[in-house]
Amino acid sequence: MKKENLKPESLMMSYGYKPELSQGAIKTPIFQTSTFVFETAEEGKAFFELAYGLREQGAEEEPGLIYSRLNNPDLEILEDRLTLWDKAEDGAVFESGMAAISTVLMEFLKPGDLLLYSSPVYGGTSYFIKNILTQYGIEVVGFQAGQRKEEIVEILKSTGKADRLKHIHIETPANPTNALVDIAMCKEIAEQYSTNDKQVTLAVDNTYMGPLWSHPLEHGADLVIYSATKYIGGHSDVIAGACLGSKELIKRVKGMRTFLGNMAGPWTGWLLMRSLETLKARMELQARNAEQIANYLKKHPKVEHVYYLGFIEEKDTENYRIYKKQYSSAGAMISFDIKGGEREAFLFLNNLKLIKLAVSLGSTESLAEHPATMTHIDVPEEDKKKNFITEKLVRLSIGVENHEDLIWDIGQALDKV
Ligand SMILES: *Cc1c(COP(=O)(O)O)cnc(C)c1O
Repeated sequence: MKKENLKPESLMMSYGYKPELSQGAIKTPIFQTSTFVFETAEEGKAFFELAYGLREQGAEEEPGLIYSRLNNPDLEILEDRLTLWDKAEDGAVFESGMAAISTVLMEFLKPGDLLLYSSPVYGGTSYFIKNILTQYGIEVVGFQAGQRKEEIVEILKSTGKADRLKHIHIETPANPTNALVDIAMCKEIAEQYSTNDKQVTLAVDNTYMGPLWSHPLEHGADLVIYSATKYIGGHSDVIAGACLGSKELIKRVKGMRTFLGNMAGPWTGWLLMRSLETLKARMELQARNAEQIANYLKKHPKVEHVYYLGFIEEKDTENYRIYKKQYSSAGAMISFDIKGGEREAFLFLNNLKLIKLAVSLGSTESLAEHPATMTHIDVPEEDKKKNFITEKLVRLSIGVENHEDLIWDIGQALDKV
């Protein structure tokens, strides 16, 4: 079987796993083990030499299994399968999306370096950047999704430390309003500030769109990051994260992971492999449902505005250009402004019957929440305004239920407002 010729969805059940090594079991067993037995001391020595980079890997040689903080079959097979969606050389999985994000930031930034990041970003990311990284002497500066390259370069220059730019972290589409950032434009900035002895790296958090319809590496990103808790896990039953990129960069990420000790465990790996088998089927249905629901909301008299990628029009030129270039679907995330404010938004949320009132996204069940008082409560007032995170904003993550039932539920809850 040649992977080049087959689509990822065809390979999710088998890729990277050899049944003959596990008694013929068709599925990867859960390798619930902390350590691995070496056949000989020489073998143990050879494995350690490779793990610590003390010599080059031989042509036929595979890195051996040593200890589950370094590697475990459930993680390695999962990592191999994840690379297929994003056509990445290598990947690293973590026990949470935040673990993936914080490990990348710690690996690529040192005291004195400058980080450029897009806004809005996930609440946990924003907290880590502003309150944790800055404790270690790392300077940080943000820009707004929608700003042009010249404006961002001006922001960089205004810090007086633009020459120390070392890493760029962006989130696109951004949570909760689907704001877009041009990945290739950020790559140009990264290149502009790279020198012979300093590569400015670009990481893209692609959680909000998921691995099916957008491949940031193709647009110039060096690393793509996921909260695998969302679409990849997809069943609201596991917290996990992933980072994908070149062999060289992932080796560094895995090195940091080894010493922070925040790799995913074998159970998490197994659950995610099970989830990946249905990733495409789930996401396609979620996106189809979302389109129906967005169209319904758009026409509803109690709805003021719908934030849905499918509604970006050609006349909105810059956003439309980025949308068409970076994404091949509008995804399954919708936000909308209800007419009124917090009272009306809460009435709607409290009256939903099928859709659950909960944060998180990308799962089989549809979820609804109120960003201003929940996921984005920590965002400063001024930034909330800039990002349209108002009291009347409601966020929906559309699942795999029957779309008529979802529309019925939304309709009856809006009737109560
Ligand atoms: C949920 C989320 C995260 C954090 O992931 P966890 O798995 O909860 O740690 C990061 N970025 C985005 C865009 C998210 O939605």
